[in-house]
Amino acid sequence: MNAGNGAEAGLAPYAAHDSRTRGRRYPEAAPEYRGEFQRDRDRIIHSNAFRRLAYKTQVFVNHEGDLYRTRVTHSLEVAQIARSIARALALNETLVEAISLAHDLGHTPFGHAGQDALNECMREFGGFEHNLQSLRVVDELEERYADFPGLNLTFECREGILKHCALPKARELGDVGQRFVDRTSSGLEAQLANLADEIAYNNHDVDDGLRAGLITLEELCEVRLVQRHAEAMRSSHPQLPARRAIHEIIRRMINEVVIDVIRTSGELLRAAAPRDIDAVRAHKGLLIAMAEHVKAQHLELKQFLRERVYRHHRVLRMTSKAKRVLEALFGAFMGDPRLMPEEYCDATRRIEAAEGPRGRARIVADYVAGMTDRYAILEHRRLFDPAERT
Ligand code: MG
Repeated sequence: MNAGNGAEAGLAPYAAHDSRTRGRRYPEAAPEYRGEFQRDRDRIIHSNAFRRLAYKTQVFVNHEGDLYRTRVTHSLEVAQIARSIARALALNETLVEAISLAHDLGHTPFGHAGQDALNECMREFGGFEHNLQSLRVVDELEERYADFPGLNLTFECREGILKHCALPKARELGDVGQRFVDRTSSGLEAQLANLADEIAYNNHDVDDGLRAGLITLEELCEVRLVQRHAEAMRSSHPQLPARRAIHEIIRRMINEVVIDVIRTSGELLRAAAPRDIDAVRAHKGLLIAMAEHVKAQHLELKQFLRERVYRHHRVLRMTSKAKRVLEALFGAFMGDPRLMPEEYCDATRRIEAAEGPRGRARIVADYVAGMTDRYAILEHRRLFDPAERT
């Protein structure tokens, strides 16, 4: 029995159970007084990559304002939403929290602009994908333990971190990539963390977009979902000041979708009645989901955000700058790995001997992807501005 403090009490049979984990890449004795997934979560919180999330952009660059989401506050919101749903469905709340906190560990600086730029730089060398990089961070890059590289997380947590994966890469990854080869599903906690991610960013990007003045509440009311909540709120609280009104609308939107996911998934689970997590994995189709009409409403919101926030000229100006910074950094380090800190330079030498330029590019990508926004800006200045101290 390794569940620790009754961590498995009250779990549904199809939830992830500590005592039935598929285990870790490097076998370890069961933890004392903690469950296996608690240990995963604790290791994630103690990692360097997790602390760096505080200075990585979600949509708005870190120095633009203190109230915008960063990758860390985004990850906390994902965890919060996922835990509420997990508890109501008797799923493993600790595992879903661990996956949520780890899901963006491999993200580059400067949000999606950074990911796109680095992927472009890595085109000839196997590409760059932040999901895969999150897995690489927890499997290889964190250096904290004497007995193994990375954080040596459980299979269930790694499965959740690897949300999607192209086939050739999946074949290289072994156990955790197998489901993409076999076209099967992940466990429910992994499905849930993925959906909670989407719920979190759709809603907080509304808040951040309003705060930045990129959109107004009136414009947002073109989206039927927002309009419905705005009308309901105005009829009960006609005099509410704008700031409170916005938060009240967003609160209602999150609450509604969370309740829908609990009900819809509950029905799907009752109908499929999987006897355990392996039956969930073998089941065709997702078992954690929104109802179709709710999904359609959220899609409309997503499209609005894409056009009016993510493609707003102020955001585009920032993302084009970010792109140039990352491309320049990548080019400089690829041209001369000695410009990187010693441990990266040494790693480049070792890996290049075995894998050639692809190996060099991978280490450069690790270094660049690991940077926070402000570190990337500083490093860019130090490399390209002769007046700057090196
Ligand atoms: Mg995310």
